[in-house]
Amino acid sequence: MFRAAVRSFADKEVAPHIEEWEAAGQIPKSLWPRMGALGFLGVEYDEKYGGAGADFLTTAVLCEELGRSRCASLAMAVGVHTDMGSPHLYYTGSETLKEKYLPAICRGEKLCAIAVTEPGGGSDVAAIRTRARREGNDYVLNGSKMFITNGVTADLYFVAARLETGEADKRHRGISMFLVERESPGFVVSRKLDKMGMRASDTAELAFQDMRVPAENLLGQEGKGFYEVMRIFQRERLVGGLHAVAACERALEDTIAYARQRTAFGGPLTGKQVIRHKLADMATLVEAGRWLTYAASLKFQAREEAVKEISMVKLFTGEMANRVAYECVQIHGGYGYMREYPVERFARDARLYTIGGGTSEIMKEIIAKEMEL
Ligand SMILES: Cc1cc2nc3c(=O)[nH]c(=O)nc-3n(C[C@H](O)[C@H](O)[C@H](O)COP(=O)(O)OP(=O)(O)OC[C@H]3O[C@@H](n4cnc5c(N)ncnc54)[C@H](O)[C@@H]3O)c2cc1C
Repeated sequence: MFRAAVRSFADKEVAPHIEEWEAAGQIPKSLWPRMGALGFLGVEYDEKYGGAGADFLTTAVLCEELGRSRCASLAMAVGVHTDMGSPHLYYTGSETLKEKYLPAICRGEKLCAIAVTEPGGGSDVAAIRTRARREGNDYVLNGSKMFITNGVTADLYFVAARLETGEADKRHRGISMFLVERESPGFVVSRKLDKMGMRASDTAELAFQDMRVPAENLLGQEGKGFYEVMRIFQRERLVGGLHAVAACERALEDTIAYARQRTAFGGPLTGKQVIRHKLADMATLVEAGRWLTYAASLKFQAREEAVKEISMVKLFTGEMANRVAYECVQIHGGYGYMREYPVERFARDARLYTIGGGTSEIMKEIIAKEMEL
């Protein structure tokens, strides 16, 4: 029933507007309360905060249906809100903070962003340079953040910063997470970034200039933020894998439909062995990606250690999506290069899957470490 509800929403309330949102470079803010009302924005959160109290496999259904909506930007924007930003509050925030913010997050009245990456680097999270110092009842933050999804339009930002506490603030040990309201004095959206793909999702560079954050907005303990970022990365990377598999499946459906009706040399493209084999290869790849993702999802759902498997999901599905995108465009010929065909957008959007949320190279480093190499 939940899958049918998300699919119906995607068909009726997303599909007709994708071009408009892509051109505007953002998803209208009015869509968030609508998704909140449909129960999409707090799937796993406790009912006392306005969530649905469901499990990760229900989240997986949401990811799959938004992933196949042909609007990868929306899937990503929702994923950032529900699975990358707000989990920092749900899993490490104080009861007071949860009561204050979670109901509005679930209703889609307050939109979330996660701000970890900086202009100087994203892969090396322990090298974060944004600084936080305690001053009376506030923390004062200075620094900047780069490539922040929902960054232009969000209301709440989950910000990673380095606490200035002396020797103990070195590398990963010094990082803490803060919940920052957009209205905080010293908070600036420096610019809206112009992107290759995911164009309906807004992406920002942020600056914090002596930005004051109430001390109670520290999430979890001082100096434990790195571990929280790494923990929630597992969820983010699984969600990314689910999006990639579903988007590939839709692109494959689009490509098969095209290849059936397009004729060349007296017959449909699906009659040519080379094309048939490309389609068979892609279907096999996507099926492998799906089951790798499902296996890791089941471990994650059971709260079992799955860092290696989830990193494999992120690596495999990201690379897979780019292979599928290349071949889907190729099978469409010249039409595949035209904006009016969904595979053209898919090919631009898919390029992010090997970069965002941890690059393929970093996934290989994690897998190698897990293999004790
Ligand atoms: C559209 C978009 C949305 C994003 N949304 C968010 C967001 O909401 N919040 C957020 O915090 N971040 C976000 N990011 C940032 C994203 O997570 C980073 O871009 C990513 O982690 C890579 O960091 P980087 O771009 O600084 O590249 P770098 O870390 O500078 O890496 C550059 C290249 O070097 C490689 N490399 C780096 N270290 C190694 C190594 N040890 N061995 C081998 N190769 C290495 C990388 O794999 C990459 O190919 C987003 C990025 C994009 C493009």
